[in-house]
Parts: sequence; C-alpha cells; structure tokens
Amino acid sequence: MAYLTLKNINKIYPNGFHAVHDFNLDMEKGEFIVFVGPSGCGKSTTLRMIAGLEDISNGEFLIDGKRANEQGPRERGIAMVFQSYALYPQMTVYDNIAFGLELQGADEDYIDEKVRNTARILGLTDYLDRLPRALSGGQRQRVAIGRALIRKVGVFLMDEPLSNLDAKQRVTMRSEITQIHRETGATTIYVTHDQTEAMTMADRIVVMKEGYVQQVGTPRELYFNPVNMFVAGFIGEPPMNFVRSKVQGGKITVGKTALDLSYKLGSKLAQYEGKELVFGFRPEAIRLGEHDNAYVLPATVELTEMLGDNTNVYIEMEGEHSILKVDPHDTPDVDSKITFSIPYESVYLFDGETEQVID
Ligand code: ATP
Repeated sequence: MAYLTLKNINKIYPNGFHAVHDFNLDMEKGEFIVFVGPSGCGKSTTLRMIAGLEDISNGEFLIDGKRANEQGPRERGIAMVFQSYALYPQMTVYDNIAFGLELQGADEDYIDEKVRNTARILGLTDYLDRLPRALSGGQRQRVAIGRALIRKVGVFLMDEPLSNLDAKQRVTMRSEITQIHRETGATTIYVTHDQTEAMTMADRIVVMKEGYVQQVGTPRELYFNPVNMFVAGFIGEPPMNFVRSKVQGGKITVGKTALDLSYKLGSKLAQYEGKELVFGFRPEAIRLGEHDNAYVLPATVELTEMLGDNTNVYIEMEGEHSILKVDPHDTPDVDSKITFSIPYESVYLFDGETEQVID
C-alpha cells in the first residue's frame, strides 16, 4: 500500500477559483517527489493541502491508508520548510534547531543529542553558537531545514526552499538536500518551478500546468517519453524544438524539406494525411552532417552561444527557428550553411490539435 495517497484532490478557493483539478498520486515511503510547473499552476496549493494548511475541497488524502482530510497540521506528522525561512534572529543556531522540541517539552539530554545529530547531518556542527545574521544564505537555509528535520515526522515538505539563494548556492544546496534525503530516508515532497532542480533531485516528478497534472514519472521517463508538448518543452534546456506542419503525401515539411513520415508512423500514416502535426526534436539529439537512419536537414546559422562544454547554435530553416546543441569544437560560423541529422528514434510527433504525443 502507498504511504501517501491523493485521490481526486480538488481545490476551489472561496472566491470560486478552481486551482487544482483531480490530482491523483500514490507515494511510497522514502520517496523524493518533486512538483514542478510554471508560476500559478497549483503546486503550493497542493502542498498546503497535504500539510493541512489549506482545506481539501474535494477528494481524499490518506496517510498510511488512513483518511487524513480532517486532521490538523500537527496530527499529520508532517514538517514543512517554506520559501521564506524566517529564523529567530536573537537565538543561536543551536536554539533555533532545538526550538520545536523544547516547545514539545522534550528533556534536555534528548534535545541535545537530537540537535547535535541534526547539525552533523547538515554540516552545521561548527556554527551551533552563531546567530543567524553571522551565517551565509545557504547556511541559514540549512538551519531552517534542521528545524524541520529534528521533529520526528513521516513526511517532509519543502516549498521552493532554494529561491532566496544565489545561483552557486542553489547548486550546492541541491546536492546537499539530496544527500540529507539519502541519510534520513524521509518521504519528501519538494516544490519548484526549476526543471533542473526537479531533474537532479527527484525519484519521480509531477509536472503541473494550470491546476492539472500533466504527467508523473521518473526524470528519465519525462525526458524520453513526454506525453505531450507541454512536458516535452518544459523538461530539457534549451527546450525541445517544435515545427508545425501539415502532412501531405505522407510527408511533413520542415523548412523546405519534405520528410517521409513512414519511418515514424508506419501503418498509422494514412490516418494523419492532411492533418497538422508537430515535429519535435531535442537540441542535443542532432548530429552535424549527413547520417544514416536519420532525417537530414539544411539550415542557416543565425547565432552561436559558446557555453564551454557545448555551443548552442541558433538556426533558421525557411522561416522556422530552432536551436542545436553541438560540441564547441564543431561550432559553425554565423551565416554559414550547415546540414544536420536527427536520428529517426529521436524525433517526436505530436497531434497538432490535442498536442498529445503520437506513439
Ligand atoms: P508559484 O510558483 O508562483 O508559487 P504555484 O504553482 O505554487 O505558483 P499556487 O500558489 O498554488 O501556484 O496558486 C495556484 C492558483 O491559485 C494561482 O492562480 C493563484 O492565484 C490562485 N490562488 C492561490 N491562493 C488563492 C486564494 N487564497 N484565493 C484565490 N486564489 C488563490
């Protein structure tokens, strides 16, 4: 049985706004789940319903098989780290971490052992006597996490915990949180709008858009088998290239080149004749030059961006714009004509109307 179950969860705010539609998810004990999606898609609302900070309008929330809709935040055995991790400024790191246990009236030796153990996991042992103002942003964030971690809880919720940090600190904290999760084994739900955080940290990702779950899957599943254009475009940097075109004579036109779709659609080809499809390929899935078992396309280079480990090449194909990712040693000249190949298996086709992937 799943540890946490969300069954057809809906949120309708008092003003009538329907923020979350039929959210379904089964979470195993110890899993690290990331909710990802653009601003306003309902990530925080869902997290707050799980925490007990927001009523569930419709649907059922179960913890370990038992209905928890009516339980208050404390009864649920859930701890939460928020975006703004207000620490008590006049208290040391030690006291900030210990605070929750002191409130519960735990005995001093127990608190001391727990605080030191939590500080060790978080690399804060040397900072226990400091006040928050004498810490870096990343260290403060770790204290906030420690404060939540120290309570014995079954589930750990984090809402954009890295959003106040600079780019470098975010990268460090990302791997630290993954490490903490490995050490504690706590079932975790992590909310972010950053697809890199989602891809690097999650066991499974829930992609949301406008209150609807689009897809639930491992980072690998979402990258290789996106169910629709939204997920395909959201996961991956730079995003997947899309070219919209009508199927004519079993071919789709990209730029001026007509590409034979029989390799991709096989016996289904006829049913798409005359329909609009979207031809999708990832910038990193291409090879420069002509290759076998691939669609070969000519293009003009508009701009190149050398990023060190790779170069983003912005190309134009008769009015269509795409991005290719190439080895920096192969960076083509701006304005030059190039040819590139997309292996058949790296091409995605989407229904032009529903935007769903065509298998
Ligand atoms: P962000 O990444 O910006 O935090 P989010 O995905 O977490 O976004 P939510 O905060 O869950 O999004 O909000 C989802 C939608 O619900 C938004 O359109 C928001 O304006 C709306 N919303 C949030 N709180 C309320 C409220 N109390 N009353 C009415 N609508 C609300």
